[in-house]
Amino acid sequence: MLASSQAHYTHSRLTRVLETPFRAVACDLHGRMRVDLLERECARGDVGTVVVTLGATATGAVDPLADVLRLRERHGFRVHVDAAYGGYFTLASNLAAEARAAFDAVEGADSLVIDPHKHGLQPYGCGCVLFRDPSVGRFYGHDSPYTYFSSGDLHLGEISLECSRPGASAVALWATMRALPLVRGGEFARGLEAGREAALALRAAIGADARFAHRFAPLVVPELDIVTWAVRADSASASTAAARRVFECAAADDLHLAVATFPRALVHPTGAIGTWDADAVACLRACVMKPEHRAWLPEILMRLDRAASAAGLA
Ligand SMILES: *Cc1c(COP(=O)(O)O)cnc(C)c1O
Repeated sequence: MLASSQAHYTHSRLTRVLETPFRAVACDLHGRMRVDLLERECARGDVGTVVVTLGATATGAVDPLADVLRLRERHGFRVHVDAAYGGYFTLASNLAAEARAAFDAVEGADSLVIDPHKHGLQPYGCGCVLFRDPSVGRFYGHDSPYTYFSSGDLHLGEISLECSRPGASAVALWATMRALPLVRGGEFARGLEAGREAALALRAAIGADARFAHRFAPLVVPELDIVTWAVRADSASASTAAARRVFECAAADDLHLAVATFPRALVHPTGAIGTWDADAVACLRACVMKPEHRAWLPEILMRLDRAASAAGLA
């Protein structure tokens, strides 16, 4: 099993549970899986599944799915798309060309995960895995003398790992999508577009606004609605400490950021760090996932400025 170094930890964790080898493929400066390195890994001849992340949890980066699918033709691995975070963005009309191309290639995936509890307006835990070929259900199939099914088709009760469970989250998702249909140009899609607009505006402000440009350095250009930035400092360890202080001061002012740690390769090009005394640096991350965040941007920037000052950033 291969996935990018920015893929969700669930993939390496589950391969340990399954006692299946896992290798991480390094990312480019956009945080996307490097297909040239993936190709090199494939030359070893033992790749079973490649996980392609459409919307990495930390950066929102979208891996180049179409390129991976072309490699599959030669190497015959399975392609699993992790669209847990990003899947719904296929409805947005304001993606950059690379992300658009990746979402448009999704039909070629062998399986796909999407989490309605991320962008689908559902509470935890509402997630699902979809398979291109339903007959893979036979690998999960089991017989039991206690259960009975009303049709000859594979039934979720026979092929899922979970046994009894409530149907409430399925019904809630169904009802939500009736109210806010998954259509381009619809209200739900416009909400996603607003989040992406807010992310681009927030990134631009962090990079250029006089309150921020000397304190912060933005990382990758947002592909979805996640913005990441490093704190400028003399050393990686000082930057990490400052990011944690800004995080705390912002939270005290009801601005809820996250701290995400990134490897030197991703942060170095920003020029934010003087001396590299660590291989990784904790950065700040904002997920502007509510449509209202766009209108709130001036307030968000004001609080970020306050938090940076409270954290002692000159
Ligand atoms: C959240 C997330 C997961 C894990 O999903 P949960 O069901 O929320 O635990 C997997 N992959 C990505 C990219 C995610 O963002």
